[in-house]
Amino acid sequence: MSRRSSKIQAQTSRGSHPDSSLERRLIAEHWGVEGGVLCIEGCPLPDLMTQFGSPLYVYSAKTMRQQLKLLRDHIGHEFDVYFSVKANPNPAVLEVFCDEGSGLEIASAGEYIRAVRAGVSTDRILFAGPGKTDEELCYVIERGVGEIHVESFDEIARLDRISRRLKKEVAVSARVNPDISVQGGAMRMGGGATPFGFDESILDEAISQFGSARFLSLKGLHIFSGTQILKVETLLDQWNYGVSLARRLLEGGVPIETLDLGGGLGIPYFRNDQPLDLRSLASGARVLLERMREDPYLKSLKLVIEPGRFLAGPSGLFATRVTTVKASRGENFTVTDGGMHHHLAASGNLGQVIKRDYPVIVANRLNEVCDTEQKIVGPLCTPLDTYGRKTVLPSPQVGDMIAILQSGAYGLSSSPVGFLSHPMPAEVLVDGTDVRLIRPRGTFEQPISPLP
Ligand SMILES: *Cc1c(COP(=O)(O)O)cnc(C)c1O
Repeated sequence: MSRRSSKIQAQTSRGSHPDSSLERRLIAEHWGVEGGVLCIEGCPLPDLMTQFGSPLYVYSAKTMRQQLKLLRDHIGHEFDVYFSVKANPNPAVLEVFCDEGSGLEIASAGEYIRAVRAGVSTDRILFAGPGKTDEELCYVIERGVGEIHVESFDEIARLDRISRRLKKEVAVSARVNPDISVQGGAMRMGGGATPFGFDESILDEAISQFGSARFLSLKGLHIFSGTQILKVETLLDQWNYGVSLARRLLEGGVPIETLDLGGGLGIPYFRNDQPLDLRSLASGARVLLERMREDPYLKSLKLVIEPGRFLAGPSGLFATRVTTVKASRGENFTVTDGGMHHHLAASGNLGQVIKRDYPVIVANRLNEVCDTEQKIVGPLCTPLDTYGRKTVLPSPQVGDMIAILQSGAYGLSSSPVGFLSHPMPAEVLVDGTDVRLIRPRGTFEQPISPLP
């Protein structure tokens, strides 16, 4: 074997797609391959790109339902699931979850409108967020909302004022920023300074303020401080801590009915990520539920979780076409028509500390050998617009279709779509044989397309 080919071998075995186990596993789990071409519920991606243009977001309704079922099968139906709308606010996506009985967690009046449009009843909507405006609070209170998660003294005062003026009773819960950082887990889950919720040390004071607001009725406690958690023990520590806090309140005579444990369940994005171990999450949840059942204070406490990423992330891909192939100082560059203005998270610029590549495949050449190291970049005039750093894929050709997997959450709506005035990608939902355009593509004249 020549030195060159042995180098290629090495790159292939530790490189990306389809020789890397993450891409292979994801394709097997959520997608499909027919004649070397990626399929979504049996529908070939190239057909969708011809019909709806490039770049393009494609979601599989089947995978959304599967993720929800997977979660419920493991942690049990005692946990009431609310999908976190900011992960993917397209009403057609929300509808898939609502049809399965999920509620919706929102963070703005705009998300409220999308939630209602998806057909959810307003009492299945939770409203969280540290910067709700009076206008937003009035908007949702007038129309009805399940619970508002209150995050500051200022917000209590404003809600008090608004609810008196509207003469409407408002169900609220107190979001708490816990005093601890998790023992044994790698991730610090609280105890720091944040704009979210009441520090645990002032929670009692907050509760007494709720008590003096005539139209506010305190229904619950909300605890959530981390996202993309792949370690079960970190999640369970947070859940158990939340239950202990709720118990302290109940024992002290605060009649809360619900405990919202937040979202944060992670999915694998990078080569060494291990998926959340749902079996140990299940046994941890069982222990927790048993503890609650045996405790007179906790017996009738209702549990809520509000995952976004876990439910929607695996169901979506971002597809983009190769427009240019070039070399510079010994490096291969593959330029695509989609970039970080359509998918900021995949470029590593959505708050990631270390930039690592999302799972990337050449969707029309899945049978070919991955032997060419390349940088995959979008069309923006900035080096930030890179989503494959040392990616090993088949030698690129103009017209190839690149797909970024795990893109169903924090994709299009978390991206700076106005940057460079390129047409915004269409969004398509595949549900069995039904292929539905759920947001049209933008145009040169009107780059940002409205939701239908
Ligand atoms: C963003 C958010 C979620 C969802 O988080 P994931 O990590 O996507 O599960 C849930 N609750 C609140 C209050 C949030 O802000």
